[in-house]
Amino acid sequence: MVLPSEPEFEQAYNELYLTLEQSTLFEKKPNLKKLLPIISIPERIIQFRVTWEDDQGIIQVNRGFRVQFNSTLGPYKGGLRFHPTVNLSILKFLGYEQIFKNALTGLSIGGGKGGSDFDPKGKSDNEIRRFCDSFMRELSRHIGGFTDVPAGDIGVGGREIGYLFGAYKRYKNTWEGVLTGKGNSWGGSLIRPEATGYGLVYYVEKMIEYAKPGDSFKDKKVAISGSGNVAQYAALKVIELGGKVVSLSDSKGAFVLADNESEGFTPDEIAQIAQIKLQHKELASLESKFKAGKFKYLAGERPWVHVGKIDVALPSATQNEVSGEEAAVLVANGVKFIAEGSNMGSTMEAIEVFEAERQKAPGSIWYAPGKAANAGGVAVSGLEMAQNSARVSWTREEVDAKLKDIMVACFETCVNTAIEYSSEKTDGLPSLVKGANIAGFIKVAQGMEDLGDFY
Ligand code: GLU
Repeated sequence: MVLPSEPEFEQAYNELYLTLEQSTLFEKKPNLKKLLPIISIPERIIQFRVTWEDDQGIIQVNRGFRVQFNSTLGPYKGGLRFHPTVNLSILKFLGYEQIFKNALTGLSIGGGKGGSDFDPKGKSDNEIRRFCDSFMRELSRHIGGFTDVPAGDIGVGGREIGYLFGAYKRYKNTWEGVLTGKGNSWGGSLIRPEATGYGLVYYVEKMIEYAKPGDSFKDKKVAISGSGNVAQYAALKVIELGGKVVSLSDSKGAFVLADNESEGFTPDEIAQIAQIKLQHKELASLESKFKAGKFKYLAGERPWVHVGKIDVALPSATQNEVSGEEAAVLVANGVKFIAEGSNMGSTMEAIEVFEAERQKAPGSIWYAPGKAANAGGVAVSGLEMAQNSARVSWTREEVDAKLKDIMVACFETCVNTAIEYSSEKTDGLPSLVKGANIAGFIKVAQGMEDLGDFY
């Protein structure tokens, strides 16, 4: 079921497979074993051509995709990524992760992912609009509020969702909750932009409390990578809870707090980052705007080996952004909690480093995979779908409280499942990667059996 040309998907599959194999799951539930090869083939993949006209009147062409991976628990649900690196391996890994992540939210949503190798960087608003219109001209035939509900991911934010939603509405003459991440006045949910970052921090809050009752983010040093939506709102929530954010980055380099600086990133600095990101500018362009000497800007670098002693690491940029070597440096520097805002942020080698250390020195370190820790984004997407269906809008407080409840329940599910199915002898912190994979798999596999998806 894994094609040799799909390294990212192979990695996501192997991670799931190994954690299931290393647990007592198939001893306790042997009926679910036959589901693994079935669940690992997408129900459907749609691949299409997107032609659009640039500002010079020249015709451009890109590839468009939608991987409709699993619709057991609800309509296919997952974001669209617009980035030049997008290919089928990446979208299959993202769609695969999304199945289990969505199951962990407890909401009625299946798993999917899509996107294009279109690069929004350097494009005008008009070019982005024309691209989105053309992309949706084909995609609109395959999605719908009860079929498949895409959202944003890297390169797809509020502006793109607006153009895509407008195009869908024009092509289908239907106003329906077919996309999430919509604007507030046209069907969006409050807290959706904040949800992935806030949810990540709510999840880590529970990890901190579980590891040491009464402990919190207060005075913790937190390294964050990325500077998009997830990283920005994670940073703001960490600051609100009294933590100190010591790094942020983009694909071109990283800002790391200088050693002698007591104050980490401020909300004002994060607002400046949010503004330049909307214009697709690089972080480096802020070097002269920030207080002289407060940060080191490290061109071409990721933050991990430069942040020194930290308590928490939140990779929130993209897949495979923490290597085995970087993980070893983080461990040597005393990191205690690592939780991914990105999807598959850690390489297999990095996960092995974190998990080996957790077993070697119980209580020392705890790693949470993206499919659990970053589930807040899609969870609030699920809440946006619920509001659209009921034709109501909840307040910020209502959505935030529901988001928090979902993240707490997700954390507890991961912990309890890891304890129930673990074959480990340690009585330290249970493996959240095992807990997340096993809990997500059981829910979807059991559902597939109930629906007679195989015989
Ligand atoms: N792209 C986000 C994720 O990776 C959100 C998906 C959604 O809201 O549907 O979970």
